[in-house]
Amino acid sequence: MMSVPARHLPDDIAATLRHLQSELDVVPGFEARVAEGKRRFKLRNRKNDVTFRAVRQTLRAMCSGVQRCMYCEDSCGDQVEHFRPKDHYPGLVFAWENFLYACGACNGPGKGVRFPLFRSSEGSAVLMPGVDAPLPPPHGDALLIDPRTEDPMELMELDLVSTFYFVSRYPEGSRQHQRWRYTADILGLNERDALCRQREQKFKLFKLLIEVVAREVEPARRAVQLARSRDLVSQESHQTVWAEMKRQRERHPTLVELFGAVPEALEW
Ligand SMILES: [Zn+2]
Repeated sequence: MMSVPARHLPDDIAATLRHLQSELDVVPGFEARVAEGKRRFKLRNRKNDVTFRAVRQTLRAMCSGVQRCMYCEDSCGDQVEHFRPKDHYPGLVFAWENFLYACGACNGPGKGVRFPLFRSSEGSAVLMPGVDAPLPPPHGDALLIDPRTEDPMELMELDLVSTFYFVSRYPEGSRQHQRWRYTADILGLNERDALCRQREQKFKLFKLLIEVVAREVEPARRAVQLARSRDLVSQESHQTVWAEMKRQRERHPTLVELFGAVPEALEW
C-alpha cells in the first residue's frame, strides 16, 4: 500500500459534487441524512452519470499499475469507496477527498461500515462507532490508513525476505503500530495468502527486469531494454514491492548488486 498521487477534478465536476453535498447537508436529522446520503449516492454513482463518469475517470488515473485497487494493489479498482463510511459521515458522501478506487474484496465485508477512531483526549483509546448508532461519530483520528492523504510506507514496510507481509515500522503500543495492525487486519493485507504470493512473484519479476538490462553490454541494445523494463515495471500490480526494493536495497546484497549495475532503475 502506497500513497496515491493527488489529482484535481475538472472544475464543473467538483462544483457539482459540492452542490450535491450542500443539498444533502440541509436534510434535517442525522439518521435521515445518512439514509438520504446513501440513497442519493446510489442514484448518482452510475455509468451514465456525467459527474460520476468523470470521478471514476480521475480515480482510474490515480491508481497504480493498470487500475489496481488503492488498498491492496492486486485486484482491479472499480468501486468508488468512501474512506469515511457513508453510514457515519453523511457530510462526506460527495466529498472528493473522501473517495478512493477499491476492489470488491477491500471494499466489501472486511471494512464495511466499521470505522474506529482514536479518542483524542485519551491517548490510545479506541472508539468504534456502532453500525446502527443514529448519532454523528465523535471527532478523532482514524485508525485506518488513508493512502490518499498520507504515506502508508511511513507506517509500515514489506518484508521482502520471507513472508511478504506488511509489518509495522513502529513499536508495539504506539499509535502507529495500532494503525498498521488495524489496516492490515481489516483489509486482509497479510491474511489473503494470494496477495503475499503475488508480492513475492513481483519481487522475482522486478529483479529479472533489472537483470536483463544489466546483461546488455552494447549501449544501443541496453537503452532499448532499459526502456522496455521501465515500462513493464510501471504497469505491474503491487507497486509497493518496487518502492520497497528501492528503499530497502542496502539490506539485500542482490539488490545492491542489481541497482549498482543499473542505477537508472532507481529513478523508475
Ligand atoms: Zn483491494
